Amino acid sequence: MQKIFAKTFEYFLDLIFPIHCLGCGKNREELAARERWICPDCFLKIMPRGEQVCPKCKEASEGGRTHSFCRGDNFLDGLWAAVYYDEFFERAVHDFKFKFIKEISYPLSELMVRSILETQEFGEFQDIVLVNYAKDEEEGIYSDEQKNVKAETILIPVPLHPKRYAMRGFNQSFLLAKNIGEKFALPVREDILSRTKNTKPQSKTSNKEERYKNIESAFLCRKPDEVKGINIIVVDDICTTSATLNECAKELKRCGAKNVWGWVVARK
Ligand SMILES: [Zn+2]
Ligand SMILES: [Zn+2]
Repeated sequence: MQKIFAKTFEYFLDLIFPIHCLGCGKNREELAARERWICPDCFLKIMPRGEQVCPKCKEASEGGRTHSFCRGDNFLDGLWAAVYYDEFFERAVHDFKFKFIKEISYPLSELMVRSILETQEFGEFQDIVLVNYAKDEEEGIYSDEQKNVKAETILIPVPLHPKRYAMRGFNQSFLLAKNIGEKFALPVREDILSRTKNTKPQSKTSNKEERYKNIESAFLCRKPDEVKGINIIVVDDICTTSATLNECAKELKRCGAKNVWGWVVARK
């Protein structure tokens, strides 16, 4: 009954606000809503990033690892971005976050998944991501038995402050992490890190220094025992200066996390 209601609701919503693909502008009514924001034709044209950069200096670095000379006050071990940042992704992420279109999380997280599976060179980040993921040689797919999850790696979405969460109604980073976690059999933990400072949005700050200052000491690790010795991947939508991810990493490292990586849709 609830399903019928949801379907009917979706139908009427569609009459009032028809969904147009963010790429080609077409309204592909034959597709499910979640596939229409980036239609399959446009989706397949998007190529995952060919190379990764250091989170600190944005210069090329193998597999996105932080250069040893960029460590200093940088606590991220590396950063993995699925695609190159362009106007298309700016619009997609904007509509996702500020027009509250949750369905955009599906194509975006699918791109994050593709960026791992379609990368030929396997590096440290893939090792951390694929820890619970076994390839089924015959089928070319990955077996469900591996979902017997070992918590060697966990996904932590960048938390929102409770006030911002109440306004938006969802955490966009959590939706991305949830889809990725299902695909790679990785636990998603929303209960470990919380945002104790209601900072102004990083996009409203004017320069790099302000971004770092704005986010300083904004996060608190509530369960230090559960991060000790664990590999952690902090998930976010877009990375600009990596100030937010770095602040999360700083707090998680303080509590004994082993490796902390950032994983985002796009790197600005
Ligand atoms: Zn399209
Ligand atoms: Zn660097």
